[in-house]
Amino acid sequence: MVPRPPLPPNPAAAKSCCRQILPPPLPPPPPSAAALRHAARHRPARRCYWLSGAVRRKCPGFRAGMPLGAAMEGEAALPVAVMALPVAEWQARTARLWAALETAVKERMATASLHDAVRLGCDLLRSEEEAALRRLCHRARTDKEPEAASWYREQGNREFKRGQYQAALRLYSKAASHELPGSPEVSVCFANRSAALLHLGHFEVCLEDIARAESHGYPDRLLPKVLLRKAECLLCLERLQEAQDILKVLESKIALDGVMTTHLTRLKKLSQLKVKLGEKERCPEPAQEARGGIQGEPEVWEENSRISGASSSLSLRFDAERGRHLVASQDIVPGQSLVKEEAFVSVLCPGDSLPVQDGDTAWDTRATNADLYCHRCLRQLLASVPCQGCSYAKYCSQDCADMAWQQYHRTECSLGALLLTLGVFCHVALRTVLLAGFAEVSRLVEWSHHGDKNLQNAEARCKPLSDAGAGSRGIPGCGSNGQYQSSYQALFHLLPHTEQHSPEHKFLCTLSVVAICKQLQAAGLEAAVLNQESPQWSKPKTYEKTSDELSPELKTVAEAMLRHMLQLQCNAQAITVMQELGPGDGAVVDKKPVRLATAFFPVLSLLNHSCCPNTSVSFSGTAATVRASQPISSGQEVLHCYGPHWCRMKVAERQQLLSQYFFECRCRVCLEELESGVKSMVSIRNSFCCPKCQAQMQGEENTLCCSNEACATSASRDHLSGRLQELQQQIKKALELLRVGKADKAIKMLLKCQMDAGTFLSPEHLLMGEMEDHLAQVYATLGEWQEAARHLKKSIEIVEMHHGPSSVEAGHELFKLAQILFNGFAVSEALSTIQRAEGILSVHFGPQSAQIQELQEMKACLSELPRNILQRT
Ligand SMILES: [Zn+2]
Ligand SMILES: [Zn+2]
Ligand SMILES: [Zn+2]
Ligand SMILES: [Zn+2]
Repeated sequence: MVPRPPLPPNPAAAKSCCRQILPPPLPPPPPSAAALRHAARHRPARRCYWLSGAVRRKCPGFRAGMPLGAAMEGEAALPVAVMALPVAEWQARTARLWAALETAVKERMATASLHDAVRLGCDLLRSEEEAALRRLCHRARTDKEPEAASWYREQGNREFKRGQYQAALRLYSKAASHELPGSPEVSVCFANRSAALLHLGHFEVCLEDIARAESHGYPDRLLPKVLLRKAECLLCLERLQEAQDILKVLESKIALDGVMTTHLTRLKKLSQLKVKLGEKERCPEPAQEARGGIQGEPEVWEENSRISGASSSLSLRFDAERGRHLVASQDIVPGQSLVKEEAFVSVLCPGDSLPVQDGDTAWDTRATNADLYCHRCLRQLLASVPCQGCSYAKYCSQDCADMAWQQYHRTECSLGALLLTLGVFCHVALRTVLLAGFAEVSRLVEWSHHGDKNLQNAEARCKPLSDAGAGSRGIPGCGSNGQYQSSYQALFHLLPHTEQHSPEHKFLCTLSVVAICKQLQAAGLEAAVLNQESPQWSKPKTYEKTSDELSPELKTVAEAMLRHMLQLQCNAQAITVMQELGPGDGAVVDKKPVRLATAFFPVLSLLNHSCCPNTSVSFSGTAATVRASQPISSGQEVLHCYGPHWCRMKVAERQQLLSQYFFECRCRVCLEELESGVKSMVSIRNSFCCPKCQAQMQGEENTLCCSNEACATSASRDHLSGRLQELQQQIKKALELLRVGKADKAIKMLLKCQMDAGTFLSPEHLLMGEMEDHLAQVYATLGEWQEAARHLKKSIEIVEMHHGPSSVEAGHELFKLAQILFNGFAVSEALSTIQRAEGILSVHFGPQSAQIQELQEMKACLSELPRNILQRT
């Protein structure tokens, strides 16, 4: 550590001395009733949002080819976009087919242009392969199954009776997605779901579901039940007149039907509601405090005239070494927005599923990404609107459903199982073509044949462009006016690296793309793909024949799709969100980052990679925002980390992961580590220590020696790595104990792990920090805020050492600390921690982000506290 220079005299301190001669301050005014109510309501019921350990090792905006949690010592890093490729069985099948091909055919494939590859693929995809693919599709069913619907509904009823409304809500949504549109059953699903929504306090959404039930022909005899619910909802929303109207309708209806015993409870409820209504009318409650009234300052944003979605403080450059890239054209300050771009295309990843309830069942009750997020806009789903044709696509609103249908889903709907089997990259490739429209696709494919040389070797055409003169004219992807837009043309010009992909990979992509186009043709969807008609609700005929030759138009589509598949390996951007784990009913809500979707962002793709980037990327729905994470001076390149960050991995691991992008990273830290032999920070900090004297252990080979010469202890690396793995297992077990509510045992186990770790891990090891973080989480769960804060502060020290004090990781940790201090009533410390967290997180996520909003609400709540409480802390 560098010794700090002595502090300059502090003017504020001098001022506070003067203050002593002033008369003592007046006693604080008695707290107002409103302030006390407010304090009681907001404190200490606030939940802590816990980002689990892995988030601290993750780049916020990484490319789709990267593993989610970057590798720690001993953990293997997955090199390719495993999740995005077709299922393993299909990959194995095409690999066998490839191996059996004659050498001449292999050579043809290896050197084929995209145009020729598609033609070759059409010949090589045999009916056996197509049959195998159809069998694989049976495992990923996306059609509607009415038996599944009634089963899900029963499960939902069961959860509802147990008071598990969140689980019931999800199960009713699953049921609704399997019911046939317009059937009385689907209306019952919506009505049941509205009951769960009412219990969860989502009154507006509850009303929407009731309207949905009514519009789908809800049975008349059950109507009173729903009308009562509607009245209750309106009452809660203070819409008294409407509530009264509903109650009148209800009364006349019951009078008409005659009183039956089943109606008695309802009548009782009705009279209760009427009493409530009367009360509300007599003494209306004060208007609700305006929620979300705390707004961050609006961001300054001036769009670039040449690059849509980019800030005016950037300019587009092109050279042989770096290709297209963005450079600061003026000095940029941290937190400044540099790119704001809506994805040209994005496809939801099916993802892992979350358990909704335990037990083995015929149908899966777990919630996947498809159950949790809108198929089109990626917004979180509460009461989803199911697609009318399949059980897979679920939307946040009817508008989203209609838009998706219009733009692409009418073509994709019946292909759901095939697209799930062939993976997200195939799906993105198809949707890209559908969004672009056939006219544009065929224009650019045609053009690429003539300008093939230019396009294929965009790297080679390295005529230096002068910025002032030609502007961005002549840079691939720019229009004739020199504009670079987030458009299909820009996307089409992203490099496919046709020659650099392995021929096997090219073969796999080609066969997959051809298989999709063949099914489009067989299912009678060709006209829809070519935008020649817009079919309304008629289920496309199922296909039998698949051997038909592809039409020339579909071959053009296949060629564009193949280009996009190959481009995706280098350009696919992962859209991530923080997902809440578990039921979320405790004091601490566990969150983890999940890969939500894979997308093309043509402007974001202009940013080159660096292992020590100067920007940070965040997402909101399908929009990405790039912000400067540090000062960038005019003329400097703007860089983005694709995943391998120097704080998380050693240079060898980084380079291995980056090889999928066909370049060797020459960033500052890579050069330092590779050429000057500077040891990576990761290996220095995450090192083993001597069991005898705790000094650092050194050595590249299997035998490690104590760096303290006097000690001269040695140990085998394998042995120490084994102990590390064992330790990680123990920590996992402790977290499992916490999950099942055995907090005391979890603490004991974690403390034992800490003791053990101290004998062989350096005190700065990331795992040491993670254990502190876990301990803090357990204490927070128990409501022992002081103890939680003590452990979290230790974790923060280690995080700051690894990632830097202004890193997003440090920001997340400070956010947690702020919540703990808030709940623990440590007011002044909470306020200063909120300030620090706000400063860091707004640089990375902007002033409008959910986390900043949460921090500001906490701050507002604390500053409204009666002053005598404030002074006690
Ligand atoms: Zn939506
Ligand atoms: Zn559908
Ligand atoms: Zn690098
Ligand atoms: Zn030693």
